[in-house]
Amino acid sequence: MNDLDFGTRDKRGNWAPRDALETAPVFVFPPRPLAFLKWLPSYFFPWNVLWMLSALAWWYLVIPPREVLAVLQWGWVLKLFAVNCLAVFLFYGAFELQLYIRRAQGNRFKYNPKFPADHKSPAFLFKRQNVDSLIRGFGTGVPIWTAFEVLVLHAQAAGHVPWVGFSDNPWYLAGLALLLPVIHEAHFFVIHRLIHIPVLYRWVHSVHHNSVNPSPWSSLSMHPVEHLLYFATAAYHLVIPSNPVLVMYQLHMAGFGAVVGHVGFDKVEVTDETAIDSHAYAHYLHHKYFEVNYGDGLIPFDRWFGTWHDGTRKGEEEMQARYERRKARANAR
Ligand SMILES: [Zn+2]
Ligand SMILES: [Zn+2]
Repeated sequence: MNDLDFGTRDKRGNWAPRDALETAPVFVFPPRPLAFLKWLPSYFFPWNVLWMLSALAWWYLVIPPREVLAVLQWGWVLKLFAVNCLAVFLFYGAFELQLYIRRAQGNRFKYNPKFPADHKSPAFLFKRQNVDSLIRGFGTGVPIWTAFEVLVLHAQAAGHVPWVGFSDNPWYLAGLALLLPVIHEAHFFVIHRLIHIPVLYRWVHSVHHNSVNPSPWSSLSMHPVEHLLYFATAAYHLVIPSNPVLVMYQLHMAGFGAVVGHVGFDKVEVTDETAIDSHAYAHYLHHKYFEVNYGDGLIPFDRWFGTWHDGTRKGEEEMQARYERRKARANAR
């Protein structure tokens, strides 16, 4: 595919989509029913459907029966951990292998023309972005992800919190499933904005931002405190009556979903003619400019708080103007 049919490349080789980024036409007033209907399929396809299918696969193939979950034992806990490690390795690794090792589509649709593996940086453990990310992802990321999985599934199975059955309350659970991406977005925006407070940024979140040019492994390259906050999204299911499949859906949206925002390419080519949209540009701009796009735009928090960057020249100018205003305020103090 020719990426210049869909966007532009500047002198330095940075590619940008031609159209301005849009926030989802959901939480808008007045309502925009036609835009909403046009947008709706992208709420499901391909990513959320994929996380739901993977949640079901875990439920049928990996998660032990309720009576086993009800008793905390190393056997099933370690099995869940091993499966999560393997799944992350294979899923993230598939993007890494195709796009960053084989470089199957070269620079096409790649926002930043550079490949992190070509450049060493003292910011990273062993000076390598990938090595740093792998150590953090598998060292604390997947363990904390699994810990939340174990905690919530065990609490449901042991009856500490409600386990709602699909046959008892199908409509309630279907409604809840529809809402979970919204909960994910709200949770992510709040914790992400929190760890951008300067003292927390230096201590916690700067680790994630070392990847200015993110690649798939960057997704879980976080400080353990950020892993704790990020995967705490599963803990809502201790408060909201829910079902283990929805717990898995929530966790897979966070755990596997993270790779979608860090893939570094706007489209992942499947054949010569077809490609999957990554929707990664908003979060790519966050990694590039730090103080824009704290959320991904499902809920237009960044528009409400004036931190939205839509990728256009106008978005750039607005960001610069905000920066100048802040600098003037700081100087006045
Ligand atoms: Zn990120
Ligand atoms: Zn950030």
